[in-house]
Amino acid sequence: MAENTHGFETLQIHAGAKPDPATGARNTPIYQTTAYAFRDADHAAALFNLQEVGFIYSRLTNPTVAVLQERIATLEGGVGAVCCSSGHAAQIMALFPLMGPGKNVVASTRLYGGTVTQFSQTIKRFGWSATFVDFDDTEAVKAAINDDTRAVFCESIANPGGYITDIDAISAITRAAGVPLIVDNTSATPYLCRPIEHGADIVVHSATKYLTGNGTVTGGCVVDSGKFDWSASDKFPSLSQPEPAYHGLKFHETFGPMAFTFHGIAIGLRDLGMTLNPQAAHYTLCGIETLSLRMERHVENAVKVAKWLENDLRVDYVTYAGLESSPYYGRIEKICPKGAGGLFTFAVKGGYDACVKLIDAMEIFSHVANLGDTRSLIIHPASTTHRQLSEEQQRAANAAPEVVRVSIGIENVEDLIADLDQALAKATA
Ligand SMILES: *Cc1c(COP(=O)(O)O)cnc(C)c1O
Repeated sequence: MAENTHGFETLQIHAGAKPDPATGARNTPIYQTTAYAFRDADHAAALFNLQEVGFIYSRLTNPTVAVLQERIATLEGGVGAVCCSSGHAAQIMALFPLMGPGKNVVASTRLYGGTVTQFSQTIKRFGWSATFVDFDDTEAVKAAINDDTRAVFCESIANPGGYITDIDAISAITRAAGVPLIVDNTSATPYLCRPIEHGADIVVHSATKYLTGNGTVTGGCVVDSGKFDWSASDKFPSLSQPEPAYHGLKFHETFGPMAFTFHGIAIGLRDLGMTLNPQAAHYTLCGIETLSLRMERHVENAVKVAKWLENDLRVDYVTYAGLESSPYYGRIEKICPKGAGGLFTFAVKGGYDACVKLIDAMEIFSHVANLGDTRSLIIHPASTTHRQLSEEQQRAANAAPEVVRVSIGIENVEDLIADLDQALAKATA
């Protein structure tokens, strides 16, 4: 298929997939197998030497997962992708070829809460560290990059505070510094934002959210733009220098723009084992087929609900980049022209107690710690995900006691507004 000439809506259904060569099955079969028979000893040797691409063992590659990898890479405009067992696995897999003991990643302060924990605490066990800065302050981003920086990390649309990163401005800085820019595109999806077109080198996803879209799967993906020159400096020896585990093979020299992707499979999945299972890949493939339709409705509903809330006297404020009142409204046209996504927060007059009552009174909205589902979801961070933090820390994380987060689903929007209306009445009575 001439993929470059087709539109997003065509590619989300067809990219990477063709009728099954063995059976003609039109939908991508779930290849529920651990291993693959080699043609002969020479074939096996060529596969193990990375001289021939093929299937060896499903920790590394699987035909169902391979279709999903090509599908997501195509939608993001990348050259290759590696699927992983979760979004958090994808983040480790993205950093793994770049980092080493003593090296750091410069990260935005506006990130998914779990990523803040992963970067500020857990990666220290590998001898890596993260420096958090405000990505609206480009001078601060420049100043934070030092000789030991190996990556810069941000989200396109940041979950959940209604923030949009000026990816063009940040990528100009990372290009000049010779370090790759990794963008977490989970909240936007490639339908709303294509980070590679704005200069991102690597894109990561939690496929758990909108890509699958219905709350059935935990999965992730790392997409490579193929544009970063790993050999331009001595900073990325895993990609530019001989690899002892493959007889001194140099990934960048051998695989060119596919170096990062091949390293992700041949070293990352082989040794870290954060593999996506074929059943999950199948669910995500099914979900992606309707991505554009769902994102259009998520955005349409989110705008209507956010506007209704903003005009309601029981609500203090709404942080959603899709509202004209947002300081980030002006970035939509450049970064995510089809809309600012389906997530936002709002503050309820009456504070913590009113929020808890609101959550308990919701009928259509589900009280869960997830986002990007067809169903509308709600959570009160101060009493759940952020309850261990002091009030000061909660405010800094956009999780103040009076704030609730919503992930607006694709239900009938009048029903969603009516549900919020009745729950706000009970919460503020
Ligand atoms: C959920 C999420 C993650 C983590 O993904 P998991 O699949 O839960 O591991 C990372 N980034 C963002 C923006 C997310 O929403």
